[in-house]
Amino acid sequence: MASIADNLQAVRARIERAARAAQRDPGDILLLAVSKTFPPAHIEAALAAGQKAFGENHVQEAVEKITVLDALPLEWHFIGPIQSNKTRLIAQHFAWAHGVERVKIAERLNAARPEGMAPLDVCIEVNVSGEATKSGVAPGEEARLADEIARLPRLKLRGLMAIPEPTSDAMLQRRRFALLRELKERLRARGHALDTLSMGMSDDFEAAIMEGATIIRVGTAIFGPRTK
Ligand SMILES: *Cc1c(COP(=O)(O)O)cnc(C)c1O
Repeated sequence: MASIADNLQAVRARIERAARAAQRDPGDILLLAVSKTFPPAHIEAALAAGQKAFGENHVQEAVEKITVLDALPLEWHFIGPIQSNKTRLIAQHFAWAHGVERVKIAERLNAARPEGMAPLDVCIEVNVSGEATKSGVAPGEEARLADEIARLPRLKLRGLMAIPEPTSDAMLQRRRFALLRELKERLRARGHALDTLSMGMSDDFEAAIMEGATIIRVGTAIFGPRTK
């Protein structure tokens, strides 16, 4: 079995290839290592191979790992759906929250963000595939939410996030990611200073990079398949 260091090297090579094809600087793309279900030792192995940013989608599991690894220079991103009874822990322990989709959740994160910490970086999640079961606001609804988040001093709106339906159709992948890019440009035209498109996972991040992804969230390609 390939080691985490080998996998990271392979993922970085894929990022460089895709960035070159898109005539982009690979340094403009943050690789978020999605460590959900994997123990702290795997995160330490990734850190030893130069990986600093990690994504988690279950609050309780994440806070346990963050506490154990507290002494290490890691940056934590919450990428799961945000329940209102979990906003305090997210605001206390994370640098980023990618899945904001309701004003009420944004207000709770804002109220719970400790004064001694920098504002919480947030993305609005958009349901770009229109799947009924998926979270995220419908395309077009992000503008009103963005205006509300901009009023909250303890949050910093960085951009948009999406999890399109899995598909091996490269053109469809591109279309979903292109939609998120267009929605971000519309928000910029509306006066929001955004710099982030959080899109692309193990199987589709090349398409996301072609459409302007600045954060890709990669789990399986780094840590292997999840059993839980
Ligand atoms: C699990 C997860 C990922 C990583 O998916 P892989 O296919 O394992 O790369 C990315 N984004 C979110 C929101 C996730 O929950």
